[in-house]
Amino acid sequence: MTRPLSPRVEAVFWFLLTATGYFLLASLALHATKGADNIAAVWPPSGYFLALLLLMPTQARIPAFLAMAAASVGANMVEGIRAGAAAAYTVANAAEATIALWLIRRHERGEMSFMVPRAVGRFCAAAFAASAASAAIAMLLTGNGFNFFLSWMTTVALGMLIVTPPIVMLARMIASNAVNKVPTAMKVEAIALLTVAAFVTGASFSQSDFPVTFLPCVALIIAAYRLGPFGAAAGMLIVALIASLLTGQGHGPIAAMDESQKVEVLFLQFYLVTMLFIALPLAALLVVQRRLAKRLEQSNRWLLQAEAAALVGHWRVDLTEWTIQWSDQTYRVHGLEPGTAVDVEYSVAQYLPEDRVAVQKTLAEAVRSGEPFVFQGRIKRTDGEIRHVKSHGSIEMGRGGKAIGIFGTVQDVTDTVENARILESARSAAERVANTDMLTGLPNRRRTLSFLDQALRRAEQDGAPLAVAIFDIDHFKAINDVHGHAAGDEVIRRVGQRAKASLRDDDMVGRYGGEEFVCVLQGRSALSAELVAERVRKAVHADAEGAVAGLPRVTVSIGLAVYAGEASIEDLLQRADKALYTAKREGRNRLRMAA
Ligand code: GH3
Ligand code: MG
Ligand code: MG
Repeated sequence: MTRPLSPRVEAVFWFLLTATGYFLLASLALHATKGADNIAAVWPPSGYFLALLLLMPTQARIPAFLAMAAASVGANMVEGIRAGAAAAYTVANAAEATIALWLIRRHERGEMSFMVPRAVGRFCAAAFAASAASAAIAMLLTGNGFNFFLSWMTTVALGMLIVTPPIVMLARMIASNAVNKVPTAMKVEAIALLTVAAFVTGASFSQSDFPVTFLPCVALIIAAYRLGPFGAAAGMLIVALIASLLTGQGHGPIAAMDESQKVEVLFLQFYLVTMLFIALPLAALLVVQRRLAKRLEQSNRWLLQAEAAALVGHWRVDLTEWTIQWSDQTYRVHGLEPGTAVDVEYSVAQYLPEDRVAVQKTLAEAVRSGEPFVFQGRIKRTDGEIRHVKSHGSIEMGRGGKAIGIFGTVQDVTDTVENARILESARSAAERVANTDMLTGLPNRRRTLSFLDQALRRAEQDGAPLAVAIFDIDHFKAINDVHGHAAGDEVIRRVGQRAKASLRDDDMVGRYGGEEFVCVLQGRSALSAELVAERVRKAVHADAEGAVAGLPRVTVSIGLAVYAGEASIEDLLQRADKALYTAKREGRNRLRMAA
């Protein structure tokens, strides 16, 4: 309905639609299928009226009820039913429509959908409750008994259950232009399947040689399976119409039963109810299942897109089947075309032999403990490239706490590893520069002091001996003055080299100031420290190679202090410095022990 109608025109439209439709359906039902109680087997007008009530705007309802009342009384009287009974039936039918509408509207905020299993269930419940109320009213007003109640209730319930769904669905499909959107092939299939259902029902119910009432069920289930809720509802309508018309006219296997007409009608009703309760829920469940399948497929697509964007893949090892599954991104990480056949052995063999054992160990431990895991290793891709990959994962536990699967993510972290390596080498180079004296290549003052500090802390803790020697080049000013500053530098460098060459690895020598050096001698007795310091002094003094290279000969004076529980390195250095001063004063090129 593209163009909105004025409310009055709309009310007239619904009035006429209700009146004509109701009258025709009621006349047809009364005429063709009337049972022993003057009650039809199925009462389509109830379903028709409820469908219109569900579709029409609220303000059209009062005119529609008036139209329904007029059509109902008219049709009953045309069929020769007394005015009193006709009025009673009409009241009961109007009441049932009101109750059903109220029950359905109570739960559904928007439009009631036959695609949702729960809504279908509520619709069925509302139809049964409304028919029970309607039957009770009709029974009381006409003074009939329980049998009348039962057949009235079933008749009305069937009318609603069979007729309302297809009308509502078709009207909604037309209103939302959904019919045009249905592909032609599906329309053809729908027409073909419904025609087959009509034909099979017609054939089954126009003969009484074979009890083939199950054949329409097959046709209906196929229609429900292929066409969904609309197929189920339309198929049901067709089967019900044909089966009840033919049975009402005395044809088919049900009419051929050697039973009273009342039993036959009951049987027909039972037959239709059974089919209804198979077809409608089946179709609604199929819709849910297809919707879930679609959603699952979409989620999967999003997952793969997210993996491709984040460059993170996933994998899963099935521990019972011993198979492995890779996501597309996992294939890309491994430099393989997605979908290539891979197995557990292959994916482990991708790791370099040096890393493989650690990876296997991590996984085995995770399977044993059930704890989450992380590992990193290098893989060799088929293109020969070595890449660093990192996996995070967890263990899937089956019933009884047994590990049944390993799930993990995988990420190419080569860039990160490479950057970390560059950063680390830059950091260690910067540290080296910050700790090294440029002229001599020895540890500078900063490094020397921190080394001494650590040595002092160790000595403090474990009581191991420690000694410090400070040595200073004798008459160095004169070297500068006579040979120039560059030669002076060379001498400083040479002295540093000679000192270092005469120490063992545990000892260290650093440049402490201009032409002053500090030796840290660890784990040596006072005597041993003295011997080492003396060796340094002699090595400088007897530097024949330096002399050959044209360097001026120099000597050093040394002050040696053995650690005696000083609290700080300053105290220890001060004692060594004093000893050095003594060595200078006493003639230079000598070693003096601190007091
Ligand atoms: P002493 O025997 O008493 O030690 O006499 P000295 O002349 O060596 O006196 P001192 O140790 O006080 O002199 C240090 C001199 O070393 C002062 C400075 O000109 C020179 N000097 C300090 N650093 C450098 C350097 O890096 N290169 C050069 N060429 N000379 C330096
Ligand atoms: Mg000096
Ligand atoms: Mg000096």
